[in-house]
Amino acid sequence: MAEKMKAQVFYEAEKMEMEELPIPEVTDIDVLVRVKNCGICGSDISYYFGLSPVGTPTGKGPLVLGHEFTGEVVEVGAVARAMKLFQPGDRVVVNPVQHCNACYACAAGQTNLCANLYVPGVTHNGGFAEYAISRYTGLFKLPDTVSYAAGAFTEPLACAVYGMKKLEIEPGHFVAIFGPGPMGLMMTQLAKATGAGKVALIGTRDYRLEEGRKWGADYIFNVSDPQSPYYVENLKEAIADLTHGALAHRAIVPTSSNAAFEQAIDITGNAAIIVHFGLPDTGDVIHVPALSTHTMDKQIRFSWLAPLSWPTAIRAISEGLVDVESLVSSTVPLEETGQAIRDLRSRVGDPMKVQVTP
Ligand SMILES: [Zn+2]
Ligand SMILES: [Zn+2]
Repeated sequence: MAEKMKAQVFYEAEKMEMEELPIPEVTDIDVLVRVKNCGICGSDISYYFGLSPVGTPTGKGPLVLGHEFTGEVVEVGAVARAMKLFQPGDRVVVNPVQHCNACYACAAGQTNLCANLYVPGVTHNGGFAEYAISRYTGLFKLPDTVSYAAGAFTEPLACAVYGMKKLEIEPGHFVAIFGPGPMGLMMTQLAKATGAGKVALIGTRDYRLEEGRKWGADYIFNVSDPQSPYYVENLKEAIADLTHGALAHRAIVPTSSNAAFEQAIDITGNAAIIVHFGLPDTGDVIHVPALSTHTMDKQIRFSWLAPLSWPTAIRAISEGLVDVESLVSSTVPLEETGQAIRDLRSRVGDPMKVQVTP
């Protein structure tokens, strides 16, 4: 008797089917959302190709992927209704990392380390569907000025905000950002908005580096392609030249390349902070030159998810500090989700961010 919805159901590597599922039932702590825009994240690509296990108990499907989504409230469970938090028609964005608020980690504000995480699109069905469930505690109203497309960047932007907080940029700092993907381009804008003097964006593909220049990167460096006009053979020397030998004050690495992280350590100067951001592969080991890192009094930090960073991310979008909507390179219907994921992996048409609109 339950009404049906269309959903992309992921089973195993490269097997995802468009199916009809019952519209999910709303429990007391849930809110049902009609999905408007759902971004395809790098992790969706990893799940789709079986490169990392999904968050179900077995690590496998069936599961509806997609965790970066906005939508319209359709039905409100008893708790949020009693608290008058939401009503049908509200424009909302879902924070997919939904903590329990009942464990020691949550009580300490370390909500990213919650013992009972519920993550639509990773542990439970997510946003590559016409409807999705969110716990009421993971839902935020979208400011009127923020579109559904822009709002769907809140999750990745909140992760970027958390990483940038750890970077502790001070006015005038020379900041190096490794990896000019959507994350690196949001970080470039955040770095400028929070007082960086010069931002150097480092990558391996010119079309992305050139995007970075539009978003405020002062210098762009291609470290892999000798044909590129931005190619540098020795990045450390290039940055030393720009900083009168002082090297970078800060470096953040929103790519999973281990080599990039080791290079980030190399091109930073005294008292630098270096933030490890991109998710590494199983078994990756970072080599840190112990003596120079020690005697230069550097700090290496890691950034995982986005605790306590959502209000800042929503503000950064609504105040126009970060232009996210221009990062959307294409929007596809739900039917084409699988193809869009495959095209993203093989980089057909120089994509940046692709969103699904069910
Ligand atoms: Zn994501
Ligand atoms: Zn918890």
